[in-house]
Order: sequence, then C-alpha cells, then structure tokens
Amino acid sequence: MNNTIDLQNTRIAFQHKSNSDLKRSYLVFKILQKPYVLRVLKAGANGIIRYRLPFKFFIKKTIFKLFCAGETLDEAFQQIKKINQFKVAAVLDYVSESEKTEAIFKSNTGTIVTNIKRLGKECPNNYVSVKITGLEDSVFLAACNANHFPTDEKSKLRFEKLYNRIDLICLTAKENNVVVYIDAEDRFMQDIIDAMVENMMEKYNTEKAVVFNTLQMYLKDRMEYLHKLIASGKQKQYIAGIKLVRGAYLEKERETALKEKKESPVFDTKEQTDQSFNTAVELCLSNHKNVSTCIASHNYVSTQLAIDCIKKYQIKDIENKVRFSQLYGMCDSLTFNLASGNYNVSKYLPYGEIKKAIPYLIRRSEENSSVNAQIVDELKKIKTELNNRKK
Ligand SMILES: Cc1cc2nc3c(=O)[nH]c(=O)nc-3n(C[C@H](O)[C@H](O)[C@H](O)COP(=O)(O)OP(=O)(O)OC[C@H]3O[C@@H](n4cnc5c(N)ncnc54)[C@H](O)[C@@H]3O)c2cc1C
Repeated sequence: MNNTIDLQNTRIAFQHKSNSDLKRSYLVFKILQKPYVLRVLKAGANGIIRYRLPFKFFIKKTIFKLFCAGETLDEAFQQIKKINQFKVAAVLDYVSESEKTEAIFKSNTGTIVTNIKRLGKECPNNYVSVKITGLEDSVFLAACNANHFPTDEKSKLRFEKLYNRIDLICLTAKENNVVVYIDAEDRFMQDIIDAMVENMMEKYNTEKAVVFNTLQMYLKDRMEYLHKLIASGKQKQYIAGIKLVRGAYLEKERETALKEKKESPVFDTKEQTDQSFNTAVELCLSNHKNVSTCIASHNYVSTQLAIDCIKKYQIKDIENKVRFSQLYGMCDSLTFNLASGNYNVSKYLPYGEIKKAIPYLIRRSEENSSVNAQIVDELKKIKTELNNRKK
C-alpha cells in the first residue's frame, strides 16, 4: 500500500480514455459551465419543455454521455468490464427515483435483483446502489418517518412490502457476493430508512459488511447518529457499513426548512460541512474493527486524511475496511490513482432511460456549475494530459 501516493497524476487518471474521449469530456465540462444547461434540464424535469427528440438528443450527446454508463444494462456492463481492468470496481446504479406507482416499485426491485445476480455471475466483487424512493413513494416514507413507523393496518402492510423488497435485495447481494449501498436522499424520510438499513446490517453484516447506509455529513444531526450507529453495531455484533458523503440536496433542504419555518437541517457553511465530514472519517477509521467505511467523495483533503488514518490506526484489512468511491465522469484522478496504489476504489455507474436520469443529471450539473472550483480543476487536468500526450 502506497501512503505517499500522487493523487494528481494525469497519465494514470486518464489511462482508460482515448484522446477523443478526453476532448469530448473537455467540451462537455465547458458546456456545463454555461448556466443555460441547468435551466434546460430543470425545464425538462418540470415539463416546461416537451420531452421530444431535439432535447433528448442534446442531453444524450452531452451530459448523459459524460455522467451515465448507458441506457441499457449491456452498455453498463461494457463499462464495468472496462474499469475492472484497471482495478476499479463499479457501483451499478439503476436510475429510478421519486417514483409513485406500485408497478414501478415492483419492477425496480426486480431490476436490482437481476442486476445483482448478473454481477455475481459475470463480475463478482462489484456493487449496487439503491435509492429507496425507487421502491416506495416519498410521501408515504415521510408519513412513516413522522410517526416513527406506520400506524394503521393498511400502512403496516404497505410498509411490510417495502421492508421485504429491501430484504430481498440485501439477501440476494449476500448470496452473490455483491455489496449494497443504500443511498441517502431527503432528510424528512431518513430516520425510517436508517431504522430499516440498521436491521439489514444486523442480519447480513455478521462476518463482513454487505449492506452500507449513507450518512450525509452536511446534516447537523449526523455526528450524533454516527456515534449511535457505531455503538449499536458493537452491542449487536455486526459490522457497521458506513458510506460517508457530504450531501447533494443542500438547496432543497434549505428551501424546505424555510417553507416550513423550521431551522435548516444542514450546516450554514462549507467549512462546517468539511469539518463534520473529516471528523466522521477519523471516527469511522479509528473504529475499523467494527466499521467498514466508504469515503464517497471527490475531495482531495478528505481522501488524503483517510489514507493517513490507515497508517495512524494501523488498519490491516484495508480491502474490507476502507473503500473509496467517486462518480462516473468525475474525478478520475482520485479513482485511478487510488487504484494504482492498490486501494479499494469504485465508480458509481448510473444507467437507464435518459428521461429517468434527469434528476441525477441536475444534481451533477449543479455540482459542476461555473462557480465550482472542481470543474476548473477537471478542465485543467484534461488539458494537461492532452498536452502531455502530444510530447
Ligand atoms: C460515490 C458517491 C456516492 C454518493 N452518494 C450520495 C448519496 O447517497 N446521497 C447524497 O446526498 N449525495 C451523494 N453523493 C454526492 C455527495 O453528497 C456530494 O454532493 C458530492 O460528492 C460533492 O462533495 P465532495 O465530498 O465530493 O466534495 P466537495 O466538492 O469538497 O464538497 C461539496 C459539498 O459540500 C457541501 N457544501 C457546499 N457548500 C456548502 C455550504 N455553503 N454549506 C454547507 N455545506 C456546503 C455540499 O454537500 C456539497 O455537495 C455521492 C457522491 C459520491 C462521490
């Protein structure tokens, strides 16, 4: 394991990309700096512009191509096999969120189970991610959350259905040697999700972490929850699978709080979020005997901190205890340099219908807007590599 790894090496970062791939990425990141892209996406999502061919074509050729692994499972598997060659695992992410009908919840569960089985057979040691709002309506989840569980018989039965779906996904994952990341979404339904995922961990994380919960460290209450989760794992003797993120719904959380005249659940400054995230990294890694951690971030300081903690806390079973993950199309320099240093690293690989990917693409566009330093860094790295290749 290389503790003094160069995370900025552009040759390693882009070894899987041809010159034309790099030029395309450069162009799309440049387009993303234009505020109209976000406006077009939001107009599409809100039904203001019709979901017709020119709109679909524009999205498909630009940001969908950069951030998604394809429209079909076969296309996604091609990408999985490609990145696996560079010792980078994939987190297969079927894009379907904020769904409303029982038929879709059922079919999404079937899709995820099928994907796990195919991964187990063709590409073991990869992952899947699950958004609970692809398996149940957020309004129902919010109601369960507010009442600390369903109250009437009808809701109890409905809740049981959801619980059984999640259980089936986790059981299938365990049987097929695939790890499951349960994503975090809006704060208003997180308590009920936490409760279900903890039950899954108790059931399936007895020898190693199969199921991971996601903690958004921009939330003011997450540090207290993290302490509770680690203590619960120790007491009930399961490995707590913890995926740490900063959080992708900042503006939405603030707007909801404002509308409801409540205190915002997210920190007021980036510095507070950074401090919370980095404290969580150190807390999880110092408890490595009982915790398996995924640092899901594009932040170089947090990534280096995790690398330093491996040494500081003398973590031996790094493969199982410390994982890193980045999103497809972003921050290849962290992903591929970590892989070349023999760290356990994966890429989130969303795939599916373009229409269903729009909410995901909006989040990525917001993150890569012109005000973000990350996009400037990404452009600089691509340019450096293209220049180096000319020499
Ligand atoms: C593999 C992977 C999986 C992910 N899964 C999820 C998930 O399940 N749920 C989810 O919500 N997100 C998820 N994300 C997205 C993540 O939450 C962040 O939005 C994104 O990664 C950017 O944060 P960063 O750590 O990479 O770095 P940075 O670029 O250093 O941080 C940006 C983040 O800091 C926070 N921030 C920025 N400005 C402020 C401010 N003024 N006040 C307070 N906080 C601020 C926000 O969270 C923002 O996203 C995932 C990201 C990755 C890489």
